Formats: sequence, structure tokens, C-alpha cells
Amino acid sequence: MSLTLCLHGVRGSRPTDRLDQMDFGCNSTCIEFKTENNFYLILDGGTGLIPRGREIVQNQKSTEFNFIITHTHWDHILALPYFEPLQDSKNTVTFYSSKPVRATFESLFNRMLKERNLAIPVEQIKAKINFKTVKSGEEFKIGNDISISTYQLNHQGITLGYRVRHGNHSACVITDNAPIDNGNYMGEGMAAAAKGNPKAFESKFRQGLVKFLANADTVVYDTHFANDNLKADWGHSTPALALDVCYEARVKRLVIFHHAPEDSDHDVRAKLDSIKDRAKKLGVEVDAATEGKEWVHG
Ligand SMILES: [Zn+2]
Ligand SMILES: [Zn+2]
Repeated sequence: MSLTLCLHGVRGSRPTDRLDQMDFGCNSTCIEFKTENNFYLILDGGTGLIPRGREIVQNQKSTEFNFIITHTHWDHILALPYFEPLQDSKNTVTFYSSKPVRATFESLFNRMLKERNLAIPVEQIKAKINFKTVKSGEEFKIGNDISISTYQLNHQGITLGYRVRHGNHSACVITDNAPIDNGNYMGEGMAAAAKGNPKAFESKFRQGLVKFLANADTVVYDTHFANDNLKADWGHSTPALALDVCYEARVKRLVIFHHAPEDSDHDVRAKLDSIKDRAKKLGVEVDAATEGKEWVHG
């Protein structure tokens, strides 16, 4: 059994269009998991989804589409209405997402279409759409042999990290996620959970994340900031922080991801270089997320 991780969009916060960002890519978050199964499994609907949707309709192998949504910030859902398979009544599209108190994915998605914020008229969306709620810590199956687990990250609302398992292989996506130390609690429910014993909460979160990623083949990890310009309360990590977690979790490969919109190709390379030597010593392979790049496991 093989599990292929395929990156269609790697930019964080918003899509960009600068010539000096083309090596790594300008589209916002969209990642696909490919297996021997016919159906499609895609994480998030940033602008990387638009060219992928066009490609799919030209050579479609299934009418079943599954989306796992990390959270509702625009860079992660912006392009969903432009996903061309949504326009075909033969298709069934299921969205898995968390249910935060404010701005659920379902309500935002429906509003994007119905309140005519976009050029796509709601009548054009003909696919059958299902919404499913998933909680942090939940494990569910798609098909017979893909199992997916979730972990609430330190980011606004309820942002979910995902682990996709197929056979002996696992690939994880941790976007977006800030360091939790010193009371930097960003996720819904976290401040309340930390009340009384913040140190214990922080250590539980960190240990939980390490366990969630344990022995994964590949982890795509939010490294929006460089090691020397972290703004912890903005909800993101750095390459050094990502490497610490991945080393502790005995991850084989770390892919730095969610490149800041202002980062040039040179800046992204510098981020990768900033952890290369240490990663080599620790035995973790490192790479930078690049649009169109695939990693095949198995
Ligand atoms: Zn983001
Ligand atoms: Zn975000």
C-alpha cells in the first residue's frame, strides 16, 4: 500500500504573485493524499486547489471527493467555490471540519456562495455536499483502509492537525500552530483548560503533539516565521521549533511549510538552511514545501 503526499499550495496567510517566489510557489494551502483508492482526499481549499480541480475534471477517476479542513482562515478555504468538480451533479463532496463556537466551516462555506461574495452563482454548485464534524482526538476512516486522526493546534478557533494513515505509512499536516509556552493560548477552550495549572497544560499539549506525530514518515509543519522573527501570538511556528517537535516524535522527514507571503525564494532557502546541520545530526530529513512536489511512501 502506498501513500503519496502532494503539495498544490504552500503559501501562508494569502496567495502571492511575486516572481522571486516562483521556485516554492505562490498558492495558499492545499495538500492532497493519494492512495490506490480511487476517491480524492484533499486537505484545505487554498488557491492551490484551483489548478488541481481543473486537472481533475479533465481526467476524472472518481465521483467521490473528501476534504479535511484544518480551520476557516481565508488562506485555507478561499478557493473552494472555484473547485470545478463542485459544478458536476454526479459528484459527492464531503467536508470534515471542526465546530468552533464562532465561524463554523459549514456556515462560512454556505455564506461564500449564498451571499454572492463571489462570481460563482450558487446554482452552479450542483454536486451533492455533506458536512461532517470532527473533534480533536477523534479517529475516523475514509474508505476501508485510510484512517485519519486529529489534534487541536495552538491557533485561533479550533484548528486541527491531521494524521493520515494508510497501511504502514503516515503523513501529517500541522498547520497553523504557535508555540504554547508562557501562557500563549490561542485555541478555543485552551485558556480555560490551562486555568489553575498552566505548566501542566502546556506540557500535556506538547506531549500530546509529539505522540500524535510519533514515527510519521513525513510531517508538513507550519514554519511561517524564521527562527529570529517569531511573533508567538500570531499563531505560527519557526523551523527550529518544528524540528524540535519532529525530532522528539522520531519523525523521518520534516517539510517546512506555510511560507510567509513576504518571503522570497531566498528567504525560504535560508529558513531551510537554518536547520539543515542540526537536522542532519539529529537524523531528521528536512525539505521545504514546493508547489507540485510529491513524496511517495511505500
Ligand atoms: Zn494559514
Ligand atoms: Zn490560520
